[in-house]
Amino acid sequence: MIYMDNASTTVVDKEAFDMAKKYLFENYANPSSSYSMANDVKADMEDARDMIADILGARYNEIYFTSGGSESNNWAILKSCELMENKGKHIISSKIEHHSVLHTLSYLEKKGYEVTYLSTDEKGIIDINELKSAIREDTVLISIMFANNEIGTIEPIKEIGKIAREHNILFHTDAVQAVGHLPIDVNELNIDLLSASGHKFHSPKGVGFLYIRSGIKLTSLIHGGSQERNRRAGTENTFGIVAMANAMKNCYEHLKEYNIQMQTLRDELLSLILKNIEGSHLNGCMHNRLSNNINIYFENINGELLLILLNQNGVCASLGSACTTGSIDPSHVIMAISNDKKRASSSLRLTLSKYTTKDEVNTTFEVLKKCINQLRK
Ligand SMILES: *Cc1c(COP(=O)(O)O)cnc(C)c1O
Repeated sequence: MIYMDNASTTVVDKEAFDMAKKYLFENYANPSSSYSMANDVKADMEDARDMIADILGARYNEIYFTSGGSESNNWAILKSCELMENKGKHIISSKIEHHSVLHTLSYLEKKGYEVTYLSTDEKGIIDINELKSAIREDTVLISIMFANNEIGTIEPIKEIGKIAREHNILFHTDAVQAVGHLPIDVNELNIDLLSASGHKFHSPKGVGFLYIRSGIKLTSLIHGGSQERNRRAGTENTFGIVAMANAMKNCYEHLKEYNIQMQTLRDELLSLILKNIEGSHLNGCMHNRLSNNINIYFENINGELLLILLNQNGVCASLGSACTTGSIDPSHVIMAISNDKKRASSSLRLTLSKYTTKDEVNTTFEVLKKCINQLRK
């Protein structure tokens, strides 16, 4: 199988796994216990927190470990609204957020909140002027994703952060697709809350973190023990946390190199497709785009049938968000950028990783061409 679905999840970094596996088999102590075996795990977990904070320009006590992107998004949004409820009940977000943001927002709408969903241009970029004019006296939170999971579009985070700060509004970003791929400095970008998930950058599934700027007194989403400085109860995923920090470090130590490598292969695959497969069009933006993302509209192709054929021919791909699979709803992201139902149900996402090879790219193209021809016959 050729794995071209790295926006869904990624293979675990072998070196990061090797560094962390001792927390499964040797030092499996609960970090909250009081013997030295536990103190050692605790110390290593704090080192992991330090490593992550360093990469983001944050302080170690601003990083909170969670179970992943969905929990971090839920926590950030639900609890920042609760924190600010005396100021108002208006939130600004966008139409192209991940479902873990959109569904949290619709939950809040049922509780009396009002949400403005910013539209985007045909490339998937929000309009800064629309954002400015959406701000009201009672706006308490702006939640805009760093990079889109379906079309890879990178949003103008620095400008959004600046506007949020000028208006004294909390700014949360779902950076699940950005961490491990883009340089991020939470201070330069004026980010107050940032969600990340390890399994999108080569650590195991079920671990992530939320950056909370110090001074923002978010209360717990998960109640129980006093872990994470009393803000996130539950015995820590020590193995996952250490693996995540090391996987993240390995992405950032060679960030430029990996991005150039992925972009070169991505651009090769993209131009092979656009040149040789009739009626194929890129979705999204060529420039403000994650280096590993391709999302293509194939005219007169049923996306779900294409996915099945690709699978039969050994290529793992996606229609966009994994959460959409199995439901008949066309991608909300492609709908938002094109308002074209046909396009939304005839688009395919291929996402590379730092481990993707040239051979895999060539085979993917050959298989794709064959499958498209077969479907069009
Ligand atoms: C994958 C993803 C999530 C959810 O992360 P999990 O760790 O799988 O819960 C949230 N936002 C975006 C943009 C994602 O790509």
